[in-house]
Amino acid sequence: MSNKVITRYAPSPTGLPHLGTTMYALLNYIYARQNNGEVIMRSEDTDPIRSKPEFEEAIKEGLAWVGIKFDKFVRQSERKDIYKKYIAKMVEEKTAYISREKNEEGIERDLVRFKNPNKIITFHDMARGDISVDTTDLEDFIIARDINSPLYHLTVVVDDFEMGITHIIRGEDGLANTPRQILIQEAIGAPRPIYAHYPFVLMSNKKKMGKRNGAVSLQDYRAQGYLPEAIINFTMLLAWHPKDDRELFLLEDLIKEFQLERIGKSGAILGDDKLNWFNKEYIKKLSESEFLKKAKSYINPDTKIIKKLSESEFDKLILQFRERINKFNDLNNLILGSANTTDSSFFSTTTEHLKTTPDSSIIQEKTIIVSGPNDYLLKDKDPIINDIKILIPKDVRKEDVVIYLKNIKDLIEKNDWGKIIEKNDENNLWMYASKEGRGKVLWPLRVALSGELKSSDPFEIMKLIDKDSSLRRIEKGIEKLIHLH
Ligand code: GLU
Repeated sequence: MSNKVITRYAPSPTGLPHLGTTMYALLNYIYARQNNGEVIMRSEDTDPIRSKPEFEEAIKEGLAWVGIKFDKFVRQSERKDIYKKYIAKMVEEKTAYISREKNEEGIERDLVRFKNPNKIITFHDMARGDISVDTTDLEDFIIARDINSPLYHLTVVVDDFEMGITHIIRGEDGLANTPRQILIQEAIGAPRPIYAHYPFVLMSNKKKMGKRNGAVSLQDYRAQGYLPEAIINFTMLLAWHPKDDRELFLLEDLIKEFQLERIGKSGAILGDDKLNWFNKEYIKKLSESEFLKKAKSYINPDTKIIKKLSESEFDKLILQFRERINKFNDLNNLILGSANTTDSSFFSTTTEHLKTTPDSSIIQEKTIIVSGPNDYLLKDKDPIINDIKILIPKDVRKEDVVIYLKNIKDLIEKNDWGKIIEKNDENNLWMYASKEGRGKVLWPLRVALSGELKSSDPFEIMKLIDKDSSLRRIEKGIEKLIHLH
């Protein structure tokens, strides 16, 4: 026997891949790669009702997107003959037996039960040490509904044996299954693999991550504009604590540095803030052209505003947002406005989106956004400002804001427009803001122009909407502020 490491990622294709599935695949992938081994994806699709080929496809596709590729792919539903052979052999060797039993409806049928030797089993887990279990409590458990319908424990053990799996790295729910699986291994003469059970990824509501608990799918993360590097990095740090304080790890770094022995015992809790932080870090690392290319793939070129811009105006508009977005889809809010809402997920599910229809097939949906709720970059569409108070920065008096806006209006009227829109020492408006305090002066200007808490830079807005529209919006702001009590 060679001692090549062979791991497996064995999902049941009953839902879209989320960060929990990513963790399962990632740990097996990394461990195999760092040991020059092999990683097999095994679709455990024997449940005909819950398993769907579309989910299997979505799992493969989502994982490929984050960079996880498998050396082999097998499907349990195509291996029925192999399981049948093992069941027959076990019955023949009396490690299993056929038992005629009535089901709940009183109908008699043949079940295949495992002949439990009722003994103490001790196994070693890389994350948890030695674990001993008295198998007597497990009784003669069922391994197949009939000779053609094997159940989970049997198929897993047969497959792990046939595929030469050396390491079983799986979630802690697998711990409870391990004693039964070891008993079957011993019955069929299979060697015992090395076990490592990692803790669950918990959602912020402390629930186990899963589709039913509202886990976000990888396809959804992509649609929102997360980078695969951020997803990988974040997922891995939920399972593993590196020795130093380093936080940024690409997949190739993880293959070098990850130590399976260091996976924790208790589950990490997901925090979106941290994922956003990772995403920002990886967005920063993109070159300007990579950033623009990616960013543009999230913005509909048919949007009214975008159609009015030249390529270079478009580039300029997006580049100023680079440091400010958490994820690419935030650009849509910034460009199209979000009508005074602070909800940055306003558009997040509308661009691309996997949906399960009533007949359970998955469709890829693309909603086309051609105009936003507040197209403030269009010169003839003045923003609707429902709450004029948003023009007033924190700790600034309304009366002062009115003065700032009046002075700005004056400066725009008296100076050359070409100079007003450039941020430099020749711009009297820029110099005025610098003197008074840029935050205090430019916030009201920006919000008067955009109607948005988050938006484009005021000078970029002025460039696009021109002098007359800029003045009109500032005047409206002044007017409304004066009437505010
Ligand atoms: N197919 C099982 C699941 O998705 C995991 C099997 C295993 O890792 O042993 O929960």
